[in-house]
Amino acid sequence: MKKFDVIVLGVGSMGSAACYYLSQAGANVLGLEQFSITHDQGSHAGQSRIIRKAYFEHPDYVPLLHRAYENWQELEAITGHQVFFKTGLFYAGPRHHELIDGTIRSAQLHAIGLETLDASKRNQNFPQFELPDNAITLLEPNAGFVTPERAILLFVEQAIRHGATIKSHQHVTGWKNLGTHVEVTTAEETYCCDKLVVTAGPWASKILPFVEKHLTVTRQVVAWFKPRQWEMFEFGRFPCWLVAEEGIPGAFYGFPILPSANFGPPIGLKVAYHYPGLIVDPDHVNRTDTSQEGNVLTNAVKRFMPQGFDQLLSVKTCLYTNSTDEHFVLDFLPNTDQKVVMATGFSGHGFKFSSVVGEILRDLALKGTTTQPIGFLRLDRLVQ
Ligand SMILES: Cc1cc2nc3c(=O)[nH]c(=O)nc-3n(C[C@H](O)[C@H](O)[C@H](O)COP(=O)(O)OP(=O)(O)OC[C@H]3O[C@@H](n4cnc5c(N)ncnc54)[C@H](O)[C@@H]3O)c2cc1C
Repeated sequence: MKKFDVIVLGVGSMGSAACYYLSQAGANVLGLEQFSITHDQGSHAGQSRIIRKAYFEHPDYVPLLHRAYENWQELEAITGHQVFFKTGLFYAGPRHHELIDGTIRSAQLHAIGLETLDASKRNQNFPQFELPDNAITLLEPNAGFVTPERAILLFVEQAIRHGATIKSHQHVTGWKNLGTHVEVTTAEETYCCDKLVVTAGPWASKILPFVEKHLTVTRQVVAWFKPRQWEMFEFGRFPCWLVAEEGIPGAFYGFPILPSANFGPPIGLKVAYHYPGLIVDPDHVNRTDTSQEGNVLTNAVKRFMPQGFDQLLSVKTCLYTNSTDEHFVLDFLPNTDQKVVMATGFSGHGFKFSSVVGEILRDLALKGTTTQPIGFLRLDRLVQ
């Protein structure tokens, strides 16, 4: 049986970063991925993920975001490839909405640059939006997007260069803690390791039934539009954005049009809705019948970004793994003597953190502790 210091189960967003940081620290690592690296069946496909620091979800994420930004920069320096693109992030919504209130609160608490735009400045700088007069509009100039597929490939490439073994198309069927070591089984082979890191994304509950009642997997639909005026929405001119509307839960968000020669498909103006969609089994997702969500996105664009809609070009489905409080779970699995580490429940806002999560998983697996402030992300808050 082949023996490793650490096995990383699932080489997607968090697993690829974990493989990199673990192998860079000298650990003998095996990464097992059921599909290819990368793929569009889980949570990481679709060109772009917003990254921001004025974190409306909880100000305790901000120190982790500082570190995530540093680590993205380090990945770029090591590889010579850009993964973070600064576009600024335009926020709009009612003053009392969690999006606006939480963004202002985190920015004030952590001194994050955030401008309030009055109606005339908003109309002058961002004529793409048509919003109610009483909408609060903010700009976080240092926010932007990161490129998920490119980042995962770079982490995996670096991990391999540091000696990691990465096996794709290897579905892990089970694992056992045997006290002295952990056994991990795929259809083809059984491996053993000192520590198991589970980064299985939407499949986490299947591999860790203990966390099943704390997680739901939802189908999220993302759309790409042909706008009326292409230039108005291009990268370099148009920012990333997040818009909340009175009486509608969650928020709509989107990106500038990215040149497909550099960023790959799909083509067009990407728009999505940050709110849990239909609950699904990740192994049986209907990815064809998406007309209902497509209509919601089309209507949103027509409402507050009318120049953005000429034609719906394409839609894609992606999966959220929502924890019951929509905060991440970064912890040891109980009753495993710290042999099993898990990173799950990223609830539709995790990718920007993957560069710091990889480092945290390295610390937990190799040292049993981390200096990063993750106390608020422990599992026991959900289990009580
Ligand atoms: C539509 C959409 C938009 C989003 N927008 C943003 C955003 O703007 N900003 C942001 O920060 N985040 C965003 N997110 C969230 C972010 O993408 C996720 O939080 C993140 O990708 C989760 O990473 P993960 O590693 O948990 O899952 P994944 O990246 O899916 O990785 C899990 C991997 O484990 C593998 N695996 C599972 N089970 C097994 C097994 N038994 N054997 C072998 N391999 C296995 C899977 O195949 C997969 O590759 C968005 C998500 C979606 C769906």
